[in-house]
Amino acid sequence: NLTNRLSGVIKTLRGEARLTETNIQEALREVRMALLEADVALPVIKEFIARVKEKAVGQEVIGSLTPGQALVGVVHQELIALMGGQKADINLATVPPAVILMAGLQGAGKTTSSGKLAKWLMEQKKKKVLLVSCDIYRPAAIQQLELLARQTGAEFFPVQAGQQPKEIAAAALNFARRHFHDVMIVDTAGRLAIDEAMMAEISELEALLKPIETLFVVDAMQGQDAVNTAKAFSEALPLTGVVLTKLDGDARGGAALSVLHVTGKPIKFAGVAEKLTGLEPFHPDRMASRILGMGDVLGLIEEAQRGVDQQEAEKLAKKMKSGKSFDLNDFKMQFEQMRNMGGMGALMDKLPAQLSQAAQNVKVDDKVIGRTEGIINSMTPQERLKPEILKASRKRRIAAGAGVTVQEVNRLLAQFEQAQKMMKMMNKGGMTKMLRSMKG
Ligand code: GDP
Ligand code: MG
Repeated sequence: NLTNRLSGVIKTLRGEARLTETNIQEALREVRMALLEADVALPVIKEFIARVKEKAVGQEVIGSLTPGQALVGVVHQELIALMGGQKADINLATVPPAVILMAGLQGAGKTTSSGKLAKWLMEQKKKKVLLVSCDIYRPAAIQQLELLARQTGAEFFPVQAGQQPKEIAAAALNFARRHFHDVMIVDTAGRLAIDEAMMAEISELEALLKPIETLFVVDAMQGQDAVNTAKAFSEALPLTGVVLTKLDGDARGGAALSVLHVTGKPIKFAGVAEKLTGLEPFHPDRMASRILGMGDVLGLIEEAQRGVDQQEAEKLAKKMKSGKSFDLNDFKMQFEQMRNMGGMGALMDKLPAQLSQAAQNVKVDDKVIGRTEGIINSMTPQERLKPEILKASRKRRIAAGAGVTVQEVNRLLAQFEQAQKMMKMMNKGGMTKMLRSMKG
């Protein structure tokens, strides 16, 4: 991946005082290969390499930076620029209801994203949201959105039997006006491939609803195909932005890097988990860091604030900063937070590559989260603060209390020690030191 290739780049450039066309050639070849592997569209790669070259050549390597690091810095900046630089906010500045039209192929995640967006708008922007389904073709599609409405607490517009998409849209708009909805999210039908009937239908809906946002929903795992579909949609519909879904899957980042370049429209939201809280505003800088393997640490913090009791999170942060010892209560809280954040899978994705590897070695999976909490619950407060007092008899008592074996208690204590080590390293030398120690 890009991270590995770039560490190679850092080595080849050791000892150079200035970046020149010759000494960065090898490095740029690595970058090009990495982008190809990430499934980035070819024209995008060409332009990207040209820009990095232009910015890098002649640059003096300042201060404590190595030339390789300087080049990686340029690559990082250009990756951010490629995704639009700034975060692109959702636009709701219109006479209510602000209509958001969701477009895209079948399975892209339109319906799910409609529900998630409703939740996000209600929670983060305090909006009154109406969910409307114009997908009359798949029998379960309307019920799917209705269920999401119930789960999020958004209002759902009831569709009458036999109503056509245009009739539904017009009636819903009327309803939203009369009931003072701030936002109306309109889910639409998708096909397996782009076809004229679908494009005609959504164009008609667009003309009728005059949405302030027409969001193209696309599955990140589709790579180059995603980009081609985005291009076709952007030519047929006045899109205002993109929702890139399933970034939690094994997407290689190519779609995220190519979409803006190909469609001219920024990614406004990213789908990062199947559950309803799994939608986030898209941050080009964080995505760039993630592609470079630095991990989305900021995103993790933001998600933690959303998913867990903020006070608890702050307590933990303070404790970590003050360098106080990390005890089993903190360990248990981490497990609770993990569950709130969508389990290990969602969490791993956000960690820097090396740290995530280390966490994998600790072998925690979602099933053991509940058991772990059970074991810790069976300990006395004193034992949680000082796990070193746990000798055989105490362990037997705890195992019996939690309905597990002593081996399981031991395993948990070993995991706790690993986590404690990681926390100590984070306290002492920060990220860099920890990552270095893990490589070695
Ligand atoms: P639609 O046909 O475009 O409406 O697609 P759906 O909203 O029905 O989503 C298709 C499938 O993708 C469903 O199983 C969703 O749960 C799943 N999905 C959508 N967005 C995400 C995401 O961001 N992450 C994950 N893991 N799954 C998603
Ligand atoms: Mg759908």
